[in-house]
Amino acid sequence: MKTMNPVRLKISISALSLLVMALGAVVMASSMQDGANSLGMTLGALLILVPASVMVTRLPRLWRYQVQTRDWYQTTYPAAVSGERVACFSCGSDDIETHTINRQTGHNGHICGQCDTTLFYS
Ligand SMILES: [Zn+2]
Repeated sequence: MKTMNPVRLKISISALSLLVMALGAVVMASSMQDGANSLGMTLGALLILVPASVMVTRLPRLWRYQVQTRDWYQTTYPAAVSGERVACFSCGSDDIETHTINRQTGHNGHICGQCDTTLFYS
C-alpha cells in the first residue's frame, strides 16, 4: 500500500484548499460585477467554504496522528505504560485494538477494546 508522508499531505491539502478558495473569490468578485449573479455568488461561496472546512477538519487530525504517538502516550500517561505493556488510561484495560484509520497516510489508531477511547496513533 502506497502511503503519503503526512507533512506532504498537509502541504498539498493546504495548497489545494487555498487554490480553490482563490478561485471562489474570483468567481464571487466577477459575479458581483455581473450585477450580483446569485448562482455565481453561491458557487463562489461554496468554493470558499468547502476547502475551508476541509482544512479545519483534516489538518488538526493529521497533526494529532503525528503528535500523539506511543512515546507521547507514555509521557502523558506514565502510569498506563510499563515496559511493553500498554493499558488504557481511562479504564485500565490492556485490550488495545489497532485499526487503520487513514489509508492515505497509513496511520493506525490504537483504541481501547473496552471503552473505545483512542489512546495513540502510529
Ligand atoms: Zn479503556
